[in-house]
Amino acid sequence: MTESDLGAEALALDKQVFHSWSAQAHLNPIAIARGQGSRLWDHAGREYLDFSSQMVNVNIGHSHPKVVAAIAEQAAELATIAPPTANLVRGRAVAEILRHAPEGFTKVFLTNGGADAVENAIRMARLHTGRDKVLSTYRSYHGNTGAAVVATGDWRRIPNEYARGHVHFFGPFPYRSEFWSDSAEQETERALHHLERVILSEGPNSIAAILLETVPGTAGVIVPPPGYLTGVRELATRHGIMLILDEVMAGFGRTGHWLALDGVDGGTVAPDLVTFAKGVNSGYVPVGGVMISEPITKTFDDTVFPGGLTYSGHPLAAASILAALQAMESEGIVANANRIGTDVLGPGLRALAAKHPIIGEVRGMGVFWALDLVTDPEARTPVPPATIGAIKAACADRGLLVFAAENRIHVVPPCIVTDDEVAQALAIYDEVFGVISV
Ligand code: PMP
Repeated sequence: MTESDLGAEALALDKQVFHSWSAQAHLNPIAIARGQGSRLWDHAGREYLDFSSQMVNVNIGHSHPKVVAAIAEQAAELATIAPPTANLVRGRAVAEILRHAPEGFTKVFLTNGGADAVENAIRMARLHTGRDKVLSTYRSYHGNTGAAVVATGDWRRIPNEYARGHVHFFGPFPYRSEFWSDSAEQETERALHHLERVILSEGPNSIAAILLETVPGTAGVIVPPPGYLTGVRELATRHGIMLILDEVMAGFGRTGHWLALDGVDGGTVAPDLVTFAKGVNSGYVPVGGVMISEPITKTFDDTVFPGGLTYSGHPLAAASILAALQAMESEGIVANANRIGTDVLGPGLRALAAKHPIIGEVRGMGVFWALDLVTDPEARTPVPPATIGAIKAACADRGLLVFAAENRIHVVPPCIVTDDEVAQALAIYDEVFGVISV
C-alpha cells in the first residue's frame, strides 16, 4: 500500500466516525498521519504548522520522545489499576502537579478530561458549602457533559444535581464591554459591581461557587483586566462562596506561566479549587483533574466523596503527566512560551493588526492569543462565519492549521514553538489577510 492509498483509506473510513461539534454531512477533514514538535504531516507527506495545538492542548508539541517512552514503559509494567489502589506513578504525578498548585493545596482528584474535572469541582464545592447555586459567566466554556449523571439509575444519582441553579453573569471584556466602559479600570469596577448585585439578588447563602476560567479561552482569550480576579476573590470570601478557577485550557504553560493564575494580578489570587486537563500532559492520554485546597479536602476526611471514575488516576495518564511536566521544567518550555509571547508573537500580531484593518483587536499572553476580526473597526462589527471559514481554508492551503471560533482566529501554537515557526506563521497570516475580502 502506498502512502496515498493510506490517506484515501483514512478519509473513506472517516465517514463512519461520528464527529463532535459537527453537522456530519458537512465535514471536509484532512487526514493527519503523524506529528513532531509544532508540525504535522498528512499521508502524502504534506507538512502543516500546527498553530491550533489541536484542541489547544499539545503544549509540549507532538511526539515528545520522553512522554512517548514513559507511556510505553508504563504500559509494559502495568496499564490499568483500580482507583482505590495505591500506585507509585499516580502518586508521583499528583506530587508533580501539586508542586505547581497554589499554596495550601494538598490533594488532587484525577479525572478523564476537563468536563468531568469541572463537574467534580462543582460537586465538591456544593458538598463543602451545603449550598447549591453555581455562578459562571456567559462567555465561558466548561465542558460538554451533564446528561450522563441524570440518566444514571437513582442508586448512584446525586439527588437533583442538575435541577439545581446555574446562574450566569457577565464577566469583564473591555473590547466588547457589556458595561459601556471605556477603560480597563472602569470595566473591572463595573463588572465587579454587577457580580456583587447578582450575588445579593440570588442570595449569598444559596451560592456554592463562582466558577471562572482564569483566562476565558474558547470564548475569546479574554485576559481579565487588572484587579478583576482579586475583586472576585474578595466577594467570594466575604460571602463564604468557593472560587473555582477553570485552568483546563489556560493552565500548564499556555499563558507563559505554569498556571494562568500565576500571571494575573501578580499571582496573588488564591482559589479554593482549580480544574485542569489539556496542558498537564499535552493530551497524550486523556486526563484532567481538580486541585483541592486543604479545607475542602477536610470535608471529605470522614464523609464519603460521592464521585468516581473507572479510569481516575489511570497509570498511563499518570506516567504521561509525570514525563510531560518534568520535560516542561527541564527544557524550559514554560519560559519559552513566555518569551515567545512577550518578544515575538505578541509584537508580531500587533504589527499585523496595524497593517490589516480586519483585525479589530489582538489580545492574549504567552502562546494564547485571539485576533478579533471585524468588518468595521469603528463599530467593531464581527466578521461573518463565512469569512472565518475562508481564512481557515486559505491558511490550511498554505500549510498552517488554525483554531477558529465565532469571529476569531485563535493563535495558539505549542509552547515549544520557535522564533522561525512564528515568523513563518505570521507571514502566512499576513498573506491571507491581504487576499481575504471582508
Ligand atoms: N474547561 C475549559 C476552560 C475548556 O477549555 C474545556 C475544553 N475546551 C473544558 C473545560 C472541557 O474539557 P474536555 O473537552 O476535556 O472535557
